[in-house]
Amino acid sequence: MEFSLTQEQLQLRSTVREFAEAEIAPHVPDWDENQTFPLEAFKRAGELGYIGSIFPEELGGAGLGYIDYAIIMEELSRVDPSFGLILAAQCSLCTNHIFLAGSDEQKRRYIPKLATAEWIGCWSLTEPEAGSDAGGTRSRATKDGACWVLNGGKTFTTNAQYADVCVAMAVTDRAASQHGISAFILEKGVPGYSTGKKENKMGMRASATGEVLFNNCRVPESQLLGKPGEGFVDSLRILDGGRISIAALSVGTAQGAYEAALKYSKQRKQFGRPISEFQAIQNKLADMATEIDAARLLTYRAAWLKDQGHRVTKESSMAKLFASEVAVRVSNEAVQIHGGYGFIKDYPVEKFYRDAKLCTIGEGTSEIQRLVIARQLLKTP
Ligand SMILES: Cc1cc2nc3c(=O)[nH]c(=O)nc-3n(C[C@H](O)[C@H](O)[C@H](O)COP(=O)(O)OP(=O)(O)OC[C@H]3O[C@@H](n4cnc5c(N)ncnc54)[C@H](O)[C@@H]3O)c2cc1C
Repeated sequence: MEFSLTQEQLQLRSTVREFAEAEIAPHVPDWDENQTFPLEAFKRAGELGYIGSIFPEELGGAGLGYIDYAIIMEELSRVDPSFGLILAAQCSLCTNHIFLAGSDEQKRRYIPKLATAEWIGCWSLTEPEAGSDAGGTRSRATKDGACWVLNGGKTFTTNAQYADVCVAMAVTDRAASQHGISAFILEKGVPGYSTGKKENKMGMRASATGEVLFNNCRVPESQLLGKPGEGFVDSLRILDGGRISIAALSVGTAQGAYEAALKYSKQRKQFGRPISEFQAIQNKLADMATEIDAARLLTYRAAWLKDQGHRVTKESSMAKLFASEVAVRVSNEAVQIHGGYGFIKDYPVEKFYRDAKLCTIGEGTSEIQRLVIARQLLKTP
């Protein structure tokens, strides 16, 4: 077993950290307060190769693996989890779906622009009546000559309002149930495709979350992504990788909150000494650091297995479940260590606390992760 990162990975961590601290950190409170989508900084991260890291160089990516991607995700989320969420939707959901299921022509048309963040991408599975039960999708696509016509609507789509490209799932054969849902690639500006309400959120406020609407949206057959009827099954494969992404986002969020709490505990004095000298605070810091390490190890294991070409349904769900719950616990303790100041927006921990909660919900709630893990466990003889 090898627990150390390579020299290249250490270098990657330090350059992404420099970028995040110089070009993201100064804007975080403002982006959060005003729900500003960080378009310019995201495009800059694209130029640096951080957005399409897992895609081959010939398609505009950086040709890196999932461990490298996890490092990038951690470092961006350590400074701003919203930025991590925008990356997750763009890279491991939208672009990866096109990469895994797309034709050569689709890959050539979309991946270079998405990998470099010249274009923004979103991925729409969730509907108002189909969340955890995404197989209950109601949006439909019907064949009309050489075109597909989409009707219906999606909710909670990350990047929706800013997306140039949307990968969306719609029912093409209701009788075939989960094998009757297909994926489509929709480009901004296509008639009948629009975005609706942008949500006003508790956390992850710099990321845009909103509705995607189809009103007789007519697209040529070439916009079908993957085999007809396999869009939902492909989505489950995409989510296997996506959950590594959210696990890494959670680790980064927890790390950011922990570092802020550690620093504060050494500065804040009560009863004549730094609060870090009280055993109650030391116990919290020790538990936080231990849990972050465990979450990181689960995340890297899933990433490593994925890089080796294994199916990672169980391992990515375990990493996502554990790391997201750790992000919530650690950010909660980080606020506690700050006392009253933890409740005030002048300190970064209240934002980590608000942002962390999404990690236990997006790309499958903790309850659904347990269901996925248990299904895998029960499969083994
Ligand atoms: C900020 C944000 C960004 C998002 N981005 C995207 C995106 O880019 N693309 C996209 O497609 N979706 C996205 N989502 C949607 C997200 O994946 C769903 O919100 C999530 O899967 C839960 O679905 P739901 O909200 O409908 O909750 P529900 O499914 O209604 O769940 C409600 C509660 O019931 C529990 N529950 C449901 N079924 C079961 C069960 N069988 N067993 C036990 N408990 C159960 C859930 O765990 C939860 O606690 C986003 C959501 C948010 C909030």
